[in-house]
Amino acid sequence: ADVEKDSDLMHIIHVTAEMAPIAKVGGLGDVVTGLARACLSRGHTVDVVLPFYECIEKRQITDLTLITTYNSFHDGDWIPTNAYRGEVSGIPVIFVEPSNQFFKGKYVYGGSYNELEAYIFFSRACLEWMQVTGVQPDIIHVHEWQTSALPLLYWDMYHQLSLKRPRITLTIHNMEHYGECRQEQLSKCGLDGAIYATTDKAVDDRTIGHNPERLSLLKGGIVYDNAVLTVSPTYLKETLCSGWLSSTLIRNRDKYFGILNGIDTAIWNPATDIYLPVKFNAQKLEGKKFCKNYVQKGLGLPVESAGIVEGKDVVNGTQRKVPLVVCITRLVAQKGLHLITHAIKNVEELGGQMVVLGKAPDDRVEREFKDLADLYNEGPAIRILLMYSEELSHMLYAAADMVLVPSLYEPCGLAQMIGMRYGAVPTVRRTGGLADTVFDIDDHSNSHMANGFVFDGIDEGSLNGALDRAFSLYKNRQEIFWLRDLIYNCCCRTR
Ligand code: ADP
Repeated sequence: ADVEKDSDLMHIIHVTAEMAPIAKVGGLGDVVTGLARACLSRGHTVDVVLPFYECIEKRQITDLTLITTYNSFHDGDWIPTNAYRGEVSGIPVIFVEPSNQFFKGKYVYGGSYNELEAYIFFSRACLEWMQVTGVQPDIIHVHEWQTSALPLLYWDMYHQLSLKRPRITLTIHNMEHYGECRQEQLSKCGLDGAIYATTDKAVDDRTIGHNPERLSLLKGGIVYDNAVLTVSPTYLKETLCSGWLSSTLIRNRDKYFGILNGIDTAIWNPATDIYLPVKFNAQKLEGKKFCKNYVQKGLGLPVESAGIVEGKDVVNGTQRKVPLVVCITRLVAQKGLHLITHAIKNVEELGGQMVVLGKAPDDRVEREFKDLADLYNEGPAIRILLMYSEELSHMLYAAADMVLVPSLYEPCGLAQMIGMRYGAVPTVRRTGGLADTVFDIDDHSNSHMANGFVFDGIDEGSLNGALDRAFSLYKNRQEIFWLRDLIYNCCCRTR
């Protein structure tokens, strides 16, 4: 309520494959919800348009109402499509539900339909809905490759028809995924795929000799958008210097911006978090201690039984200092899997406790972590939980003394920010947005920013060094961990 309103008010429509908490797989979902809420609170009109995935729990949507039934084009047919309106966590959402098999299945991704074609269909169905209903926002904000066909459809089709007002913004949350697409697949939305098969449009730059059958929706989106954003200044630099899209990004440098993500401080707030058994804040940390013990008990880890006395744990006059390290992540190569498994070993050796909450989309990785879980989960120090759980993630951030984010690359990363918001000190690799948000406690040139531990290498020794320093600070000066003003009050930064 105390947020200042912007003077130039706009209507912004986000078109996205994810939205927290109803259809969240990773940070994309968090950021869309946080950004929408931040813009709403500054006076803008905001809608989020989302596929009506079968897996969405309808009870999490308020006032769900069918507002339009219309036809949208796919592969020579007009598909009857429903548009519903509802509210999720205070944010207006339009749900697009085609009558074919698209978006059916148990999860957001990985259904038995063709995902690429489903998102190209969705991109057109959003524009078709705007045309049918006469809604003309100022900005259509698309995210990732999934909705990157929209700018092509907008400028080459709908702008020629009735949509004149909108301008298009693309946010790239992770450049690893680029929406590889054949001409004929793109043609299914009614555009002529051949037109985009040139290097100045959508041909994938990585292909030697530029194979015109290999288009990239993400590249097309970059070329066709009015503005392209990525999620941290350091990741912007990294993507301009290397990576297959760098030449395209350099060509489009004037409209390419790196703006640091924030977290949604309404959802991530230890003082009000509905998932916590006891709430807490920076001035009143007893609740954090309770959350730590609660999680330890729940997971069968040895519990420290004393309360906080002036920042120190006192059990019969002796101090017990067992730090709890938490790592909450998709288990994919980007996240530094070998460093996560190494940390498990190292934390055990250092006498700490560690909980990994992660889901592996790849069976081989799943098996590897399942084996580790079998090895460690009966023991006294480590718990490896191979699942996705929003509720558990909140409790773990609240319980944690430290969060670990050892990513090989990280466009922005939210776990370190959420951790700081919940009073957990981050240990991270210096890359992308991690380098923009975590500043090493031992870097005395920058001590007013200090809030965590940072390491550079991708080898185990580099990680060891940072964990050793974190453990030693915890053991010797625990008051710094909990009572110092480390709780990073990151406000959701609007763009
Ligand atoms: P990415 O977008 O690459 O997955 P981010 O750090 O930007 O990484 O965002 C990850 C988000 O997903 C955070 O909110 C994190 O807490 C959440 N998350 C990741 N894995 C899980 C899981 N297994 N259970 C619950 N939440 C998870």
